[in-house]
Formats: sequence, C-alpha cells, structure tokens
Amino acid sequence: ETTINKIAAGEVVERPASVIKELIENSIDAGSKSIDVEIAEGGIAYMRITDDGVGMTEEDARLAVLRHATSKIQAVEDLFDIASLGFRGEALASIASVSHFSLTTRKQDSDLGTRITIDGGSFTDCIPYGAAPGTTIEVRELFYNTPARRKFLKTDRTESSKIQDIVGKLALSNPHISFKLTVDDKVSIITPGNGTVTDTVTALYGYKTREDLFPIAYESESIVIDGVVSKPTLLKSTRGWQTIIVNNRVISDRTIAKAIDNAYHALLPKNGHPLVVLNIIVPAEMVDINVHPRKSEVKFSDDKIIFKAVYHGILNALDNPLH
Ligand code: ADP
Ligand code: MG
Repeated sequence: ETTINKIAAGEVVERPASVIKELIENSIDAGSKSIDVEIAEGGIAYMRITDDGVGMTEEDARLAVLRHATSKIQAVEDLFDIASLGFRGEALASIASVSHFSLTTRKQDSDLGTRITIDGGSFTDCIPYGAAPGTTIEVRELFYNTPARRKFLKTDRTESSKIQDIVGKLALSNPHISFKLTVDDKVSIITPGNGTVTDTVTALYGYKTREDLFPIAYESESIVIDGVVSKPTLLKSTRGWQTIIVNNRVISDRTIAKAIDNAYHALLPKNGHPLVVLNIIVPAEMVDINVHPRKSEVKFSDDKIIFKAVYHGILNALDNPLH
C-alpha cells in the first residue's frame, strides 16, 4: 500500500507546486471562503494550507488519507459529470507517502477537532485536537524518502515562483475566495475574495494594470467566455499573465494559447503575450478532462471551435475594427 502510494505520488505530486494545487483544490471543494498558504524554502522544507471550509470528522479524516478514498464520487456516472475539482481520491495519500504530513481538521459545528500525522506513508498518530473550524494540512520535507525525485526539483526560488504562479491562477479562477500566500515569512499574495476578477488581477499584478483591462463576455456555438483581457500594448515576454480556465479548472492548452496570440497579433504585430484571464465554459461532451493525472490539460473534441471562440471573443472585447 505504501509503495503504491509512492508510485501514485509520482503522477500527482511532481513538485511542491503540484502539492499546493491539490490541497487548494480540496479547500475549494470544501466550500472555503478564505485559503491561507504558507511556504518555506520553495515549499520543499515546509508547506501549510489552512482553510475555513466544512472540515472533517475524525472518521472522515482517517478515510481521507487512504488511497482512493474520495467523498466526491458516489456512482460511476459521476466520473463523466464532475462538478468538484478532486475525484481520484489519491492526492492526500500520495502526498503523505512522500513527506512528513499532518492533517488537522474540525467540522464547523463540532467542539473539538482531530489531528492525524503520517510519516512517509506510515500512520503515526490520530488525536483529538483543539483547532479552528476548517482544515489545516502541513507538509514537511517533501520527497525526503524518495531522493531520486527530490533531485529533480529546481532551486527554492524557482519552486517558490511556481507556487506563486499556481496560487495566483487559482485565485483568478475563484475570485469569490480570498487567498493569502506567505513565502519565507513575507506576504506575497493577498486577494480580496470579493468575486471580481478585475480586483483580483490588480491585487496580483499591480494597480497600473487596471485601466488597461477590458472585460470579455462572449458566446458562440455553445461556448461561453468571460473574464478580462489587456490592451494590446501591455505585453510580457512570458505567458505568466495568462490564466486559462476551462469548466472551472485552470489548464494550459496550445490551441487556446495560439488563438490568444493570433488575436493580439492581428491587432498589433508585436512579440509578447498579453494579460488574459479567460473563463471558458464548454459543453461537457466537447471536452475530456481526464487525459492528465494532474488534470492540467484537457482534450477538446474539436479544436477549431475553441480556437474560433477565443479568437473572436478577444477581438470582440477589444472592439477591433478588423473584426
Ligand atoms: P479527492 O479530492 O480526489 O477526493 P483527496 O485525496 O484530494 O481526493 O482528498 C480525499 C478526501 O478528503 C476528499 O474527497 C474530501 O472528502 C476530504 N478532504 C480533503 N481535503 C479537505 C479539506 N480541505 N476540507 C474538507 N475535506 C477535505
Ligand atoms: Mg483532491
């Protein structure tokens, strides 16, 4: 069982940022309004996620750390129509198998919480524990017992920036949740959680971007897009300012990236990548979200339809006379 968890961990847990992503997605699924993340030394030494979600009973918590324990799928049909972000039930077990792990949780309506500790996949303790309602997960010394995997990690600085990137993207895809990220004792991200994408963008990227943003609201062939896009002169050399959300999931996708570039280059033939936050809703039968274990990529049944919607959606938003 421990070995299987370690193997599964190779798929789900590539680096500290993938741990953060899984844990934040669990907090989102738990209905949290506020998610507080703290990391040290690129997350490799220490990561902590605290949420104010529904929390777990002791029994829930014991189950949650077992492989394939998910509270999110009741029937096979649910696999094809998944509203929650989790569903494989292997993130917690995988993470706990390659770290010193603790889970502290309390149901909103209960007087006392529970704390479970696991070391390298071996259960060490489960005790009643005084805690605020919600859930806190701590992960120390990631990959301490899988040195080969540990070697693949980059510098603390690079790992931290990957974490900052994913926290920012999850904040943009959940503007109604307030996120806080502290990196090596310094506050790095605070978002308002007021439901407004523009306010979240400016909290992340600075106030000077605000007047350069255009709302996007587009609908065609059953695809709906909303979010914000920047004016064509506000370009960056990387795609660090681009957040693509498809059916509630932050993903990366070449077709969408190309559609963004083509739309901007049609307006202004200049190198670089604009700031865009695209929240794209696609009918379930047009997209397969199960192609990637970390769910960071999807497969569309027809790339052309997606391409056209993004391309025209952006030009429309920027109100381009070419369009
Ligand atoms: P999955 O998300 O695929 O169900 P996980 O291993 O990520 O699998 O989580 C296992 C289970 O633990 C979840 O289904 C959920 O019931 C519970 N859980 C995990 N994190 C939280 C949290 N932050 N708040 C409440 N419940 C949680
Ligand atoms: Mg999960």
